[in-house]
Amino acid sequence: MVSEQIINELKSIVGKDNVFTSKADRICYSYDATQQSFLPDVVVHPGSTEEISRVMKLANRELIPVFPRGAGSGFTGGSLPTRGGIVMCTERMDRILLIDEENLVATVEPGVVTEHFQKEVEKLGLFYPPDPASLKFSTLGGNVAECAGGPRCIKYGVTKDFIIGLEVVTPTGDIITTGGPTMKGVVGYDLTKLMCGSEGTLGVITRIVIKLLPLPEAKKTMLVLFDSIDGAAQAVSSIIRSKIIPATLEFMDGRTLDCVRQATDLEVPEGARAVLIIEVDGDREFLDKQAARIAKIIKPLGVVETRIATTPEESEALWQIRRSVSASLRKVNPNKYNEDICVPRSKVPEMIRKVDAIAEKYAIPIVNFGHAGDGNIHVNIMVNKKVSGDTLKAEGAIRDVFKAALELGGTMSGEHGVGIAKAPYIPLEITPEAARYMKAIKQALDPNNILNPGKIFFDDEDFVAE
Ligand SMILES: Cc1cc2nc3c(=O)[nH]c(=O)nc-3n(C[C@H](O)[C@H](O)[C@H](O)COP(=O)(O)OP(=O)(O)OC[C@H]3O[C@@H](n4cnc5c(N)ncnc54)[C@H](O)[C@@H]3O)c2cc1C
Repeated sequence: MVSEQIINELKSIVGKDNVFTSKADRICYSYDATQQSFLPDVVVHPGSTEEISRVMKLANRELIPVFPRGAGSGFTGGSLPTRGGIVMCTERMDRILLIDEENLVATVEPGVVTEHFQKEVEKLGLFYPPDPASLKFSTLGGNVAECAGGPRCIKYGVTKDFIIGLEVVTPTGDIITTGGPTMKGVVGYDLTKLMCGSEGTLGVITRIVIKLLPLPEAKKTMLVLFDSIDGAAQAVSSIIRSKIIPATLEFMDGRTLDCVRQATDLEVPEGARAVLIIEVDGDREFLDKQAARIAKIIKPLGVVETRIATTPEESEALWQIRRSVSASLRKVNPNKYNEDICVPRSKVPEMIRKVDAIAEKYAIPIVNFGHAGDGNIHVNIMVNKKVSGDTLKAEGAIRDVFKAALELGGTMSGEHGVGIAKAPYIPLEITPEAARYMKAIKQALDPNNILNPGKIFFDDEDFVAE
């Protein structure tokens, strides 16, 4: 428990209106998209880097765990206060500090919402491509900490490919800067990349320097309906093999579409076993040519129908279906399991076949969608986490899915991270030697194991979800 005296110290650091101790307030910060819940002792909303530094110093002095949090939209429990302590939420630090049009660089605070940032740079003809489907509410700080991906990563890369500098408060409360606004820089170790994807375990990100691109002149969005899942999966590898890199190449199987139809009033296409959303972007003249090439490549693979958006509104309507998938699946089954394996792109058809075989082996429904152009498939096991027989089956299936992805040269997680959800499976992918080096980095930065303890690697200390 955090004592009254510590609460008063926290109030003197961040202001009394920015410290929350009532149960109702604490419940609001107790969960994320995993639907698990752990109650923190106190929630703080710092307003500056200096305040965060002082909170970390206090937490170190008193050995109180601190859990950084953006919007709490993570899928693996990264922000969950699994040991009570302090939730440090960045929602007040939401300023875009600079958009430098001469150098195509921006500097932001961590609490800026992803879509808001994208819209602001687009007003200036600039482009920030990473587009997690949660962009309407996720924060840039959370995106950096998870190294978030999204549909456009196939062409443009993931969050870390756009982060060129950071300001970070270390777990012991020091303020450091890494990288900066130059396009190159090789002095010292690359701590910027180390922090990207570190899931709030190595430091609190307080400022982010972002590389921008010119906004593509135009884009063309196509929704392609296939008569088989295998045909759609093969289309993905055929397009890549033909050395075409579209801006997006998203996959949804028929069961995914059924869930969106069931959960929303969106106009979801009927009669397809799988669909791809393919978007190309760039110069106007180039788009038609590229779209025609793609259509020719995929035609023999069981294309039932191709719908091409002719206006931005039609394009947005197609994307609305894709962005509604996570919420729809959760509405249909709030207690499902959600994994995000990633395999080499040419292995997507084989991976999908393996997942089908696993579904059959355990006699459980599995729904697949995701960023197939990256080889990143969201495998959703549609059983109820709260029913014990189902849980056993699902855990067996998850282990098999991870093993299958690893056998194909893939990884257990393309973008959602490890948090607590995948921590038990870490030894499947990370060798003991590599784990030892990773833990040594954590120990060097966080000797008291104060910042987000028990995430990525479980510690000996146990915790129980409420
Ligand atoms: C509907 C839906 C769709 C999604 N789609 C995608 C997708 O397409 N691609 C994708 O990659 N993810 C997706 N996600 C997952 C999630 O949105 C991302 O992981 C996102 O980056 C989390 O941002 P957040 O602000 O919610 O962070 P939180 O969930 O609050 O935190 C995530 C992690 O970051 C840490 N953290 C947060 N802020 C900081 C900070 N300032 N400094 C240090 N650590 C920090 C936390 O401790 C935690 O470990 C989706 C989630 C939902 C609910």
